[in-house]
Amino acid sequence: MSEYLVGVGIADVTGEAGGVGMMGYALPYQRTAGIHQRQWARAFVVADRSGAGVPLGSGAGVPLGSGAGVPLGSGAGVPLGSGAGVPLGSGAGVPPGGRRFAFVSADLGMIFASVHAEVLRRLAARYGPRYTAENTVLSATHTHSGPGGFSHHTLYNLSTFGFRPRTFEAIVAGIVTAICRADADLAPGTVTVNTGELHGASVNRSLPAFRRNPDRAAFPAAIDPAMTVLRFARDGVPVGVISWFATHGTSMTNTNTLISGDNKGYAAYLWEHGWAGIPQAAKARGEGGFVAAFAQGNAGDMSPNLGAGGGYGPTGNEFANTRIVGERQAVAARELFEAATEVVCGPIAHRQRYVDFSCIEVNGVPGARTWPAVIGQGFTAGTQDGRGLPFIHPGQLRRSRIFRLLDAAVVRAPDEVVAGHAPKPVGLATGLCRPHPWTPQVLPLQVIRIGQVAIVAAPGEFTIMSGRRLRQAVAAQLPDVAHVIFAGYANAYAGYVVTPEEYDAQHYEGASTHFGRWTLPAYQQEFAALAAAVRTGEPTPSAVAPAHLAGRRRPARAAGRVLDAVPPGRRFGDVVRQPLPATGAVSWRWPPSTPAARTTTPATARRTWRSSGPTETAGRPWPATTTGTRSSVGSGCSPASRPRGSPGGSRRTPSPAGTASCTTATSGTGPAPSLRTPV
Ligand SMILES: [Zn+2]
Repeated sequence: MSEYLVGVGIADVTGEAGGVGMMGYALPYQRTAGIHQRQWARAFVVADRSGAGVPLGSGAGVPLGSGAGVPLGSGAGVPLGSGAGVPLGSGAGVPPGGRRFAFVSADLGMIFASVHAEVLRRLAARYGPRYTAENTVLSATHTHSGPGGFSHHTLYNLSTFGFRPRTFEAIVAGIVTAICRADADLAPGTVTVNTGELHGASVNRSLPAFRRNPDRAAFPAAIDPAMTVLRFARDGVPVGVISWFATHGTSMTNTNTLISGDNKGYAAYLWEHGWAGIPQAAKARGEGGFVAAFAQGNAGDMSPNLGAGGGYGPTGNEFANTRIVGERQAVAARELFEAATEVVCGPIAHRQRYVDFSCIEVNGVPGARTWPAVIGQGFTAGTQDGRGLPFIHPGQLRRSRIFRLLDAAVVRAPDEVVAGHAPKPVGLATGLCRPHPWTPQVLPLQVIRIGQVAIVAAPGEFTIMSGRRLRQAVAAQLPDVAHVIFAGYANAYAGYVVTPEEYDAQHYEGASTHFGRWTLPAYQQEFAALAAAVRTGEPTPSAVAPAHLAGRRRPARAAGRVLDAVPPGRRFGDVVRQPLPATGAVSWRWPPSTPAARTTTPATARRTWRSSGPTETAGRPWPATTTGTRSSVGSGCSPASRPRGSPGGSRRTPSPAGTASCTTATSGTGPAPSLRTPV
């Protein structure tokens, strides 16, 4: 009998597609003007079947996708973002040791504290203590091509000139619906894990800072190539996958005005639509039977732009780049998915705590502490993914006169705060802005454990070395955990986190590290304490709570589109102009024929792409088998069942040994279908 109940769910979170400032590049003139890919929230719930006293996946009375009790899109009757009634991670109502968790990956730039609070409030209204801040992880893929204005903190609504209630509602309602669907979908199943490496989908965009790290040899290519995959199955039939890999959602550039899930959104589209054959309309209803999430890791300094700069790469076309980098993640993830044989087994546990990052003393280092949030002037210099102000250079330590004026006009940072943030030249002391901070300072930290896997959910953009050190701090407290996964952009957003050595370089990421040079050691200290509590079962009550800013949000003054309707005689979905017959037709090869690209071992896959890279395709049936070269891995658990069926009603075709069914026409398994361009 399987140890867990597993459930998957998906729902649309696409916000306003016309005239709204986009979230990511912070450029006021970058406003939505259509849709390249819709945005989705993908939810996974795992419950421990041995958890006596916990309603096990009954979902009774929760109509699938109806969102009954949760107004979808209307917002009527629901106080937005009040956060009232949100359990504060104390574990109240959730038995120590825990028995279930929900993980969400959403095609968003960030999960703002506003979204986190309102989603939890609605879940509490529906389920009571079943889903709380302690056992629910909301994470973002960090696409830079979605509409903004869904934060309650001023800094993140500047490019939208205020709050956008419709976009906020679409995001919150979609995430809640995805979790509801996953909850209602719970049934006995298995979770397997696999790890590998992917090269050719990321590059370090802040090398001078990275090279300051004494432990840089851990990443010889200056990237974190690790990909970790969780495979969810029921009766041997795969129902979902989460892949974590660190690369920014910036394949689409800062001149794009179409809503897009960027490379991770494309990877999910390729798997769900191209491989599993799930129609978009079915996906919108939460149907299809398979959910593929490409979640974000420690991508702070990881860019997908493999070219020579200018925000592009590997080609000069942002749509092609989105597809190529997405495909590389999807293919690598599926290879790991197919080879995953290490069964996850053991109890589920979780701990969460809100911590005030404006004043954490770092143990063991005299004088080391964090400070109220300050954005450095290097924040405005931008990165190779998108340059910022021309008169500010990455690494510039001399303070610009403009920022002296800005500082004086908005809020003046006291001398001790300025000194505390050194060598960061102060740009704007967001933590000292009144009547409330412009960026959050009370942050949610969370650790989820399921058997030999731990998920560290952190509210920011950690560089690869920061993520590595944080994982090490957690692993030291959980010696019997084999896989520590870093889930970034989770539950709130408070800028970047770099190592102290990187901080001294004051590149974009260091300038965007809000709480000073000791931000990362403070995270390590606090997360280590949480991980220790997971091990010992001690409660971790929060001494502070995030401010409730819903009533203070300022609606956008810019109206955006005042009318969004089809012309007379037309309907939504009508084809305005047919694409060329060859548009979007690409070829996909599975597995790759080049020996160099096939160095997969049972437990570890390492995929390297040449710069010219194979062009991939989709639209093929679900692969029926994996290669015959893989064997099970001794994990102390029974081997996972092999896939016996196909998700979402997709067809299965027999394949020759060593070759999955998703081969190109040249392999003799039939004509290669074309992949439709995402809509
Ligand atoms: Zn970023």
